[in-house]
Amino acid sequence: MATAWRRHVARVAAGLNPLYAAGAVFLVVYAQVFANSYDQRVLAIAGIYALLVIGYQFVFGHAGALSLAQAAFFGLGAYVTALLATRLGWPFLVTFPASLGAAAALAALVALPVLRLESHYFALATLAIGQAALAAAVNWESLTGGSVGLGGVPPPSLFGFAIAPGTRMLVLIWGLVAIGGAVAWLLIRGPRGLAIRAAREAPMAAGAVGIDTGRMRFTLFVLGAAYGGGAGALHAHLLGVVSPEVLRLPVMVSCLAMTIIGGRTRVAGAIIGALLLVHLPEWFRFAERYGPLVYGLALLATIVVAPDGLTGAATRLRQFLWPESPPPPPEILPRAVGLFHAPAEIDLKVIELSKQFGGVAAVREVSFALRGGEIIGLIGPNGSGKTTILNLITGTERPDGGKIVLNGEDIAGWNPHRIARRGIGRAFQTPILVESMTALDNVALATHTAVTAGLSYPGRRLAAARAEAASLLGGLEIESSAMQRWAADLPHGVRRRVEIARALAARPRILVLDEPAAGLDEAERNALRTALRDLAAQGMALIVIEHDFHFLSGLASRLICLDAGQVIAQGTVEAVRRDKLVEAAFFGPTAGADGAP
Ligand code: ADP
Ligand code: MG
Repeated sequence: MATAWRRHVARVAAGLNPLYAAGAVFLVVYAQVFANSYDQRVLAIAGIYALLVIGYQFVFGHAGALSLAQAAFFGLGAYVTALLATRLGWPFLVTFPASLGAAAALAALVALPVLRLESHYFALATLAIGQAALAAAVNWESLTGGSVGLGGVPPPSLFGFAIAPGTRMLVLIWGLVAIGGAVAWLLIRGPRGLAIRAAREAPMAAGAVGIDTGRMRFTLFVLGAAYGGGAGALHAHLLGVVSPEVLRLPVMVSCLAMTIIGGRTRVAGAIIGALLLVHLPEWFRFAERYGPLVYGLALLATIVVAPDGLTGAATRLRQFLWPESPPPPPEILPRAVGLFHAPAEIDLKVIELSKQFGGVAAVREVSFALRGGEIIGLIGPNGSGKTTILNLITGTERPDGGKIVLNGEDIAGWNPHRIARRGIGRAFQTPILVESMTALDNVALATHTAVTAGLSYPGRRLAAARAEAASLLGGLEIESSAMQRWAADLPHGVRRRVEIARALAARPRILVLDEPAAGLDEAERNALRTALRDLAAQGMALIVIEHDFHFLSGLASRLICLDAGQVIAQGTVEAVRRDKLVEAAFFGPTAGADGAP
């Protein structure tokens, strides 16, 4: 335990940018030597906002959801502390966790209905939460003091000592900012950070490797609310009063502006954004009438010039001035697709599976069985239901009828991440990658450590995940230089194999591939075929959609041919190839032109 903590402290220290460290020293000197009591109070408010914004980054930055409820959590935290401290006289060590907990509890309560909503409706629903909280604060006079609010909130008392306003209060607030910032930073690092980004930027892909994107959003939302509640508690102590002002829109707008100006995902951005925007009105006091104008211009300028905030712009400037040499290519283990594990017994039975899209029967009572070591080739003209079958098996679509029984358990209709965790991995017909990540990290995000870490503590090591990813990519004959390139810049053939490597990183027992050879050249196709055969030889089961009989012969142990959602032929490659119905489906009057055997 102690060594784990020492390791985390060391990691935080190693991650501290010298510039930020200098900034912190400057702040301490300023607060202690130059600041008068008014300046100290402004600095304290900036610290409170920094905590609020660090929390908001979990939602707005990491989950990518525009929540307008952060001020509601801030206000709730403030009221809870004010009530407990004035009415019951409870000490800080009780009221502070209570404020955090109340905000987190409210977030958990509203998260269930609200987090399902699409972006615009999510924003509106969270705005409504804020307005409801405001209405409650104004109207529930017996509890909240109505529009006057609650006065006489004492300074926080720690172990019997009152923390007087001034230096002590600053130390308490900024100490909590440091702790909160370090915790946030550790939570978003490493393989888990990759998983969080994948859930935000490519949720389909994240689900397909077993990342529970819904739980991720929930956890980030609740965590963000807890930070908001803590900030509210400190605000109540600092001001000594709590009024409905803490719940009004300006708090939310400030929080949003600080996050955008500082940067959405970096802890330093939250602190810089809060310091800057709290001090801006002070510096422009001579132009008080134009305060909102200055504020608005600053926001507008940032959005235009530095869309990822000041910290993002600083990072880009640094990379421009001192270009980083790309990290050394990872060491690649023997060039074969290794499974890292022996797949357990596999027994998949698809029983009378059906799916309708409106009037279209995409899949009609399809049944087949699959065992470990087998490769099923799924063929059929365009629109015959091949992709839909894979979508049903992997949970992307819910079947209308039938069963999908994996080792005795009916998994039909389960969520994709649950099915993935049962050991079914997939690649999509059009590869879905996290475009802003390297090829290597696209695979590392799916490793066991990334997927199951969730938001639990402690985190796991990125280097191990990357090493595993590098050997998988190497096994699929991806050059180590390509592993360091952004996914967005990769040629099509490489993207396909990155996706297969990503599926393998999640350690599947069954791998389903939708036209994996499309867009590959002859050498790449042969390499892919060898790799797939190796996987089957190690006991994995595969379903491969493919148009090309040549690719499938010598690979598939069995072919299933579909036409208009129905199985029309089943058997060895040779038998299916000579089947009259298959011939008719491919060459008949209704068939597509691309299915030529
Ligand atoms: P294949 O992969 O064999 O080309 P698909 O499984 O993609 O075929 O499609 C089977 C049929 O289902 C097609 O008629 C297609 O238009 C229809 N279909 C597939 N997905 C959807 C969807 N999400 N909504 C409506 N129709 C769909
Ligand atoms: Mg398809």
